This record gives sequence, structure tokens and C-alpha cells, in this order.
Amino acid sequence: MDHRLLVGSTWTCRELDLLTALGTLERAGFAEVEVWAEGFHLDPRVKPAVDSLVTWLDARSLAVRSVHLPFDAILPGGSADDRAQEWQRLCTETLDLAQTLGASLAVAHPVLFTDGADQGDRVLDRLVDSVQAIGEHAQARGIQLALENMHTLRGPTLQSVRELRTALGRLTCPAGICLDIGHAVFNGYTGDGLIAEIAGAGELLINTHIHDSDGVGRDPHLVPGDGLVDWPATFDAFHAAGYQGRHVLEIRGGSDPYATLLRARERLLS
Ligand SMILES: [Zn+2]
Repeated sequence: MDHRLLVGSTWTCRELDLLTALGTLERAGFAEVEVWAEGFHLDPRVKPAVDSLVTWLDARSLAVRSVHLPFDAILPGGSADDRAQEWQRLCTETLDLAQTLGASLAVAHPVLFTDGADQGDRVLDRLVDSVQAIGEHAQARGIQLALENMHTLRGPTLQSVRELRTALGRLTCPAGICLDIGHAVFNGYTGDGLIAEIAGAGELLINTHIHDSDGVGRDPHLVPGDGLVDWPATFDAFHAAGYQGRHVLEIRGGSDPYATLLRARERLLS
């Protein structure tokens, strides 16, 4: 892979403050990053120091390409409608920060907020309403919105490309798919099933999350090559699907994220 296609994620350096995380990614050789905004780093709930971040970025060649929107601990105990509203508010606030940092893309987990009283398609309708509002906010700021295939460890969500397509098909604003390879494996898409997920995303692909997994129902965010994913076949499938964009390396950094990043880059860029 061309090194310019590989984007780092600050999630890999989750134990480090945002500036140290960005510095670590830059030192590891990345020119572009995805900034995490769930629970730490750019999450508006932790009141990130955006002004000093902008000053820091101005003095460097490192660029913020994308932002990962918040999705967890949204009004616990609240009604599903209130939680969806709060999620929408939090995402739009994060999009404003993303614009300040110069990001051109934002990734959202398709969180399904549910109430016992929900009937029929109410749960999906609620998600579509929120994503529509988030998508319009993103579009007005020149930011592309991508919905990611997720797993249910953090609660109900959309898991497959088919489910993402159903939701995206109901939007009147532009939005695409961020296909997370490790999450696809978690959800049972291995071997030919994984290749079919990539082909299914097709022309809607606008971002990826690259990490390995050692089994269905697990989400260890391993360095590519440390799990069961056939990476040459995976990248061939992205190519066959017409995807020529960036791949965001979303690996767990462990106790030495810098060393882990170097190991991953050596594998993917060789
Ligand atoms: Zn991901």
C-alpha cells in the first residue's frame, strides 16, 4: 500500500492526551489522522482544548482528515427519543470542532436507541431522523458523513452493509459507508463473507477501519496479520469495489503504541 493511503487513529494512543497522541502518530510516519471523539480526545464532554490544538497543527505537516463521532453513555436512563436528541446534539457539536480542525469526513456509529414501547420500525425511524440531522449539519460544513458497521457489545446497532444501505437509502442528504473490517469479522463475515461485505458496500464506500480479529464475536483491534483476515484478498476486494480512498488503521496500541504503529506500518506498507 502507498504510505499516503494509510491514516492513523488517535484511538490507538488512547492512554495519551490528544497532543501527545497526535505527536506519536506523526513520529510513526503518518501524514493524516482520524481523531477520536468518544469519551476522550475530541469528545465535547471532556472539553478539548481546540484552540491550542489548532495552533499545534498549524506548525506541523500532520493533517486531521476525519473525526470519529461520539456514541456512548448518552443520557443513560433517558427515554429513547431524548437519548437520540442528545446524541444528535453531541454529534453536531463535534462536527463544529471537526470543521475547526479542517476535517473533511466524520464517522458515526449507527446507535439504535430503544424503548420498551417501540413498535414496528420506530427504532430505525429514530436513527434515520438523527442521522439525517447530523448529515445536514456535516454537509453545511463541507464534511462527508460515513456510517460504520458496528457490533452489539456497546448496545443495539446496525451491523451489516445491508442494514447500513437500508438506513442510508432513506436519507435525503449525502452519506456513505465506513467499512470496519474487524467489526465485520466480529459479526460473522469471514473469508468469502468478508469479501461480499466489501463488494456490497461498493460505491457507497468513503472510509475504512483496518484492524485484525482472531475470531467471530471478538473485537481485539489487532495489528493486521495477527488475526484471521486475509489482507491481500481484502485489499483486492476494495480495489475491485472501486475504492481507491484512504484506510484508517484502527489498532489497539497497548503499552507502547508507537512500537505497535511501526509494526503495523511495516506489515501494510511493505
Ligand atoms: Zn471502527
